[in-house]
Amino acid sequence: MDVPERVAVVGAGAVGLTTAYDLAARGAAVTVFERGTPGSGMTGRAAGICYDAYAEDVDVTVADRAMRRFRELDGDREFEFYEVPYVFLAREGDDAGATALSEAVDRMRVHDRSVELVDADELGERFSIRTDDVGLAGVSDSAGWADPKAYVDLFVEKCEAEGVEFRVGEAVSIRTDPPGVVGGDGERVFDYDAVVVAAGVHSRAILAAAGYPIALKPYRAQALVAECDYDGPTVYDATDGSYLRPHPAGVLAGDGVEAVEADFDDWDPAADDWFVAESTAAVRHRTETAPTVERAWAGLCGATPDRNPLVGAVASGVYVATGWHGHGFMWAPAIGELLAADVLGADESVPDSFDPCRFDGDEEFEVVEGMTLDE
Ligand SMILES: Cc1cc2nc3c(=O)[nH]c(=O)nc-3n(C[C@H](O)[C@H](O)[C@H](O)COP(=O)(O)OP(=O)(O)OC[C@H]3O[C@@H](n4cnc5c(N)ncnc54)[C@H](O)[C@@H]3O)c2cc1C
Repeated sequence: MDVPERVAVVGAGAVGLTTAYDLAARGAAVTVFERGTPGSGMTGRAAGICYDAYAEDVDVTVADRAMRRFRELDGDREFEFYEVPYVFLAREGDDAGATALSEAVDRMRVHDRSVELVDADELGERFSIRTDDVGLAGVSDSAGWADPKAYVDLFVEKCEAEGVEFRVGEAVSIRTDPPGVVGGDGERVFDYDAVVVAAGVHSRAILAAAGYPIALKPYRAQALVAECDYDGPTVYDATDGSYLRPHPAGVLAGDGVEAVEADFDDWDPAADDWFVAESTAAVRHRTETAPTVERAWAGLCGATPDRNPLVGAVASGVYVATGWHGHGFMWAPAIGELLAADVLGADESVPDSFDPCRFDGDEEFEVVEGMTLDE
């Protein structure tokens, strides 16, 4: 295969922008096509939580690489990566949750993760959060958060410095054999040596229209920012699936996951009242503060049948990167590097278990939330 010289990237979210930069930094002439503005998709709705406390080989490899890069990027222009411990807990009485947590910590340790198992008392001594309802907790010191908008701004600047061309404000489709991008009017065709579809949950429709169905289902998740006085750790409550992290205003909290397939063309971007009420109560409880909700929102995540993403070639010169189960932001720094290497035929490449062609694309499967301690 000739090394592609001209590459199109469809989608300017965290994944598309990182991939575009990594392609351009390796010498490709790159054009990014974005129907809105950079970061206007799900990256602009992400909570920005990052960690490497994973229990499986491939996840660990990708997360290590992503965390290393987040740390290297800290201080580049306006971008900051905030180091904050990650606490994941099962409440007292949640015996199944405690067992899953302790087994997950065992597997994390096999993979050299810096993670400790602690009881409620020890957790309370280390952090100023409420712990009297905690049965068992894991604490990882290798974690943090970053502002997704700052990441987008950084990578737009880095792309521009590498000569990446941006074509924004138009929803495009793609053509295969030879690879190309088709303008919104369906008539203008731009030829490329390779096309990367990094259009988030919309990747499914774009690829299906080109004759390459992928096994991806969108599902809705929600988050809010509340003003309060909190500078503790990121906390994931595995018993009810909620999480919170420190935020300049106080706390960013989330969950509100609907584990059913959503319609990616017809979904409600506003948070539900029940989510705001439950999430505020969870923040009040865990942080022992009086949170005032500043804003709340919903977004779509992408599920696959085996919870691994879909990253790699679907046809000659046509690539996809999607299906993150709520981990697309924290993995973007690694995926960009790996996918760029793949597209340009370098030695290292995307893990085989991410191969988008491992499914036919018409599979029946249940949507399962990504942030979980289960296998
Ligand atoms: C509430 C919530 C909280 C989350 N929290 C976290 C978190 O803490 N950590 C984490 O890692 N992940 C989190 N996620 C998941 C994260 O948001 C996504 O995994 C990630 O942003 C995916 O990035 P992406 O670049 O693949 O997609 P996107 O950011 O969606 O980018 C795709 C881009 O493609 C564009 N596009 C679509 N169709 C077309 C077309 N036809 N032509 C041109 N452009 C097109 C879109 O406009 C969009 O800008 C969260 C998600 C939600 C909803």
